[in-house]
Amino acid sequence: MKNVLVVGAGYAGSVVAREMADAGRRVFVVDRRHHIAGNAYDEHDAHGVLVHRYGPHIFHTNAARIFEYLSRFTDWRPYEHRVRGIVNGRAYPFPINRDTLNQLYDLDLDEEGAAGFLEQAREPRDPVRTSEDVVLNSVGRDLYEKFFLNYTRKQWGLDPSELKAGVAARIPVRTNTDDRYFTDTFQAMPLHGYTRMFEAMLAHPNITVELGVHFEDVRGDFKRDHTIYTGPIDAYFGYRFGRLPYRSLRFEHEHLPGVHRYQETGTVNYPNDHDYTRITEFKHLTGQQHRGTSIVREYPQAEGDPYYPVPREENEALFKRYEELAKAERDVTFVGRLAQYRYYNMDQVVGAALAAARRLLY
Ligand code: FAD
Ligand code: UDP
Repeated sequence: MKNVLVVGAGYAGSVVAREMADAGRRVFVVDRRHHIAGNAYDEHDAHGVLVHRYGPHIFHTNAARIFEYLSRFTDWRPYEHRVRGIVNGRAYPFPINRDTLNQLYDLDLDEEGAAGFLEQAREPRDPVRTSEDVVLNSVGRDLYEKFFLNYTRKQWGLDPSELKAGVAARIPVRTNTDDRYFTDTFQAMPLHGYTRMFEAMLAHPNITVELGVHFEDVRGDFKRDHTIYTGPIDAYFGYRFGRLPYRSLRFEHEHLPGVHRYQETGTVNYPNDHDYTRITEFKHLTGQQHRGTSIVREYPQAEGDPYYPVPREENEALFKRYEELAKAERDVTFVGRLAQYRYYNMDQVVGAALAAARRLLY
């Protein structure tokens, strides 16, 4: 295999492109957007604040191998993300921890007391199949209704009982007072931003990048030995079996001149109020010094760019039918959050892309 076409310049496409280029292949990367980095794209807004155009991206992983791989292309700024959830107008640590319980119910529980409280509150479920099961089984109905039910309805347009367990299982419940959103070994932001990291990854004499190019417009034109496809899998096959649902978002960016700090933590979640799910203030994430600040509100919606696969049995069954078609395409590799229809974090996409490249090369 000498010539490779990569569709998509996000994590999946860029990592495979770099691996193939390092192995001596000629790689042509196209992306329909006018920038690289996929959904991790960041840029300076009109006021000079570094913002994430497609919502807040915080890098975290337990895999030293993946952190080291990306460290070839960037230095890092250590950053541990913290989130508050607003319930009845007050901000509580989220994920739920001992402080959340003590503040919410005006208690003074120690670790054991918090464990006992949750044991009393929980509604045991067996089996645990849905996101409703996960939350009721661990914290019970009151905390479910205060922090999870309405956020999930807003985010997905579905009740937690209609989503697989894995969605809510992303969120831990703690009896200690750790208020970090993630507890991974490696938690950091690329020192000069994600886009700069992607620029370094794609800066290779064997890689050519062309932006603003739709695969559909060029799919017959390119002479190639292999294609790496990282877009939505149903689109690749012309929606032959019908559309796979992907949840979308509208991002409302705002700059607040002269406001040094807008909120206490990087992100504040609004489970029960407003049409948006959360507000993120970027300076927390990036550590940037600036006289003003920039924030983003996320409004979930059905239509628009595909951002989230929707983890439900019926969607996964439809995905499997597309996956069968994909397996028969011997000269195409499908990789990434949209092509594999998996609710992947960034590090998991890097892992999947490295595995895909290895399979092609060895
Ligand atoms: P993408 O980044 O979607 O890249 C696919 C690329 O393919 C896109 O640039 C697209 O334009 C291009 N493309 C698609 N179809 C075509 C076509 N037909 N022709 C040409 N180009 C095409 N992960 C974390 O680890 N931490 C976080 O904090 C985090 N926060 C997130 C917040 C939000 C709001 C979202 C939506 C995701 C978040 N993620 C986070 C997940 C992360 O964005 C993804 O795991 C990762 O970016 C997926 O990379 P990818 O290459 O698979 O897909
Ligand atoms: N969730 C919730 N309340 C919150 C935060 C999250 O109910 O305050 C649920 C919701 O269903 C969400 C899921 O947990 O979709 C996963 O949240 P996470 O923050 O991991 O989502 P992402 O950052 O991927 O949007």
